[in-house]
Amino acid sequence: DKCLPDFLDRSVSRFPDKTALIFEGYKINYTELKDMVDRFATCLHRFGVRKGDAVAILLPNMIPCVAAFYAIHRIGAIAVMNNPLYSDRELEHQFNDSGSKVLITIDLLAARMVALRPKTKIKQIVYTSIGDYLPFPKSLLFPLVGKKKGLKADVQPADELFRWKDLIAQTPPEPPKVELSFDDVAIYQYTGGTTGVSKGAVLTHGNLSRQVQQGAAWFPHIDSNNVGIGALPFFHVFGLTSVMNIGLFFGWTLVLVPKPQPPQLVQTLKKYKITFAALVPTMYIGILQEPGIESIDMSSIENMFSGSAPLPVEVIKDFEKRTGGIIVEGYGLTETSPMTHINPCGEGSLRKVGSIGLPICDTLCRIVDVNDGQTEVPVGESGELLIKGPQVMRGYLNRPEATAETITDGWLHTGDIATMDEDGYFYIIDRKKDLVISGGYNIYPRDIEEVYFEHPKVVEASAIGVPHASRGETVKVFIVLREGETATEEEMIAYCHDKLAKYKWPTEIEFRKELPKTNVGKVLKKDLRAEEMKQRG
Ligand code: ATP
Repeated sequence: DKCLPDFLDRSVSRFPDKTALIFEGYKINYTELKDMVDRFATCLHRFGVRKGDAVAILLPNMIPCVAAFYAIHRIGAIAVMNNPLYSDRELEHQFNDSGSKVLITIDLLAARMVALRPKTKIKQIVYTSIGDYLPFPKSLLFPLVGKKKGLKADVQPADELFRWKDLIAQTPPEPPKVELSFDDVAIYQYTGGTTGVSKGAVLTHGNLSRQVQQGAAWFPHIDSNNVGIGALPFFHVFGLTSVMNIGLFFGWTLVLVPKPQPPQLVQTLKKYKITFAALVPTMYIGILQEPGIESIDMSSIENMFSGSAPLPVEVIKDFEKRTGGIIVEGYGLTETSPMTHINPCGEGSLRKVGSIGLPICDTLCRIVDVNDGQTEVPVGESGELLIKGPQVMRGYLNRPEATAETITDGWLHTGDIATMDEDGYFYIIDRKKDLVISGGYNIYPRDIEEVYFEHPKVVEASAIGVPHASRGETVKVFIVLREGETATEEEMIAYCHDKLAKYKWPTEIEFRKELPKTNVGKVLKKDLRAEEMKQRG
């Protein structure tokens, strides 16, 4: 059973001097990364962390985030990745649900976390600073993590509050040898919360290791000579697997971007010869919107990967025209480590734009009737997508009922409506929960969004169902217009008249400056729906 720490060791022995991570110009090679991992693993062991204990990480993409993740696994502990933008309430839920014993965070959040600690089982808090691995003053870099009111970086080490840099300097790289097997739990990965309460998916070493191998097998033309952009947050399963774990498995150089906003993404593309970019649709859209993008040479990018939300076809075409590279769309979810489908992308293989591709190695799929959850639908018809494979989670932590509802006979119910064409390519139509039922017709919001994405004045569009007296529900579309553009509701409604069947026409349009999003840039439709319900009483 080769597990994640074995993959890192393999890259260390293959490429001891190669740069593994770059953070704001600071470089660390594979040997140095292993040394840091081993030192922190020793330190966790000295704190009393043992195999099977949970350790929380609350960091943006920085060197200690990667090192802490691998250190936790080195001693067989379980990593719990948390979003630094979460509120105390959200974090308290994740810390307590997982039973985390140690927390690794950033100085800006340390004071808040010290205050939160008594409500949790956390004993030691370790904090790192953006400036820990940088030659220049911290103040220059604060904009990278955002200037939030009340955030202070002036914490001092104290009892049970430790500075990362001191620990690394003072602890020898001598962790105890801990055997890992595929059955051991690797992470409690909390779901994105796009549709409801965040649940901890229990993912084993078998899940994560097999997933890395599934990903590597899918990209036969991709080798160790890549520079990847580490922009997807590693606290989300998409970035964790498709950038951090796969990148370190191959022995790539990863350029870490702690604040993945369009200006920082463009700056990174400008400064480094990035060859592989895994990003989410909002990042691709954001890059294309950046002023002066026309003059930026992005021709080093050969392969791009997109997932986590639908990538509008217009965006694929536009991005590929400007970079000369190829965007391959894939699909997955937290519960499946996450990848289950990817478009083929090797030479001579057939990529179908708009499709999520084929099931990856060892992954079985069924599309079943939405109502009974069992009967398979014929080719070309839509139903709920079910998955079976080595990447499927063991279950949800502390939630046997939710687990039993989600996994039946080893089949994971994705909650997504999909179809398969005659060639075996899959298409995500929409989420089951987002389906709008209007006058007895099923309407998939994504159909409508695709139409608006083609409108020259529109940057983003998101459709939801709103209550309607006679039809039950009708469609409302939230639209973000391009900078400087204006439009009327009537004009936008009329725009789709020759493009969509009449029952799908939206009855309302609302213009917004921006849309509420999750940490990986997915539109939070549940928030849009909640706002609507509130407004309508
Ligand atoms: P929660 O499960 O807490 O509601 P979430 O569903 O956003 O949040 P994730 O596991 O991050 O949590 O996302 C998985 C979902 O993302 C899938 O079920 C699917 O709806 C969507 N998704 C992923 N990739 C694609 C894609 N290529 N096209 C369309 N939708 C996608």
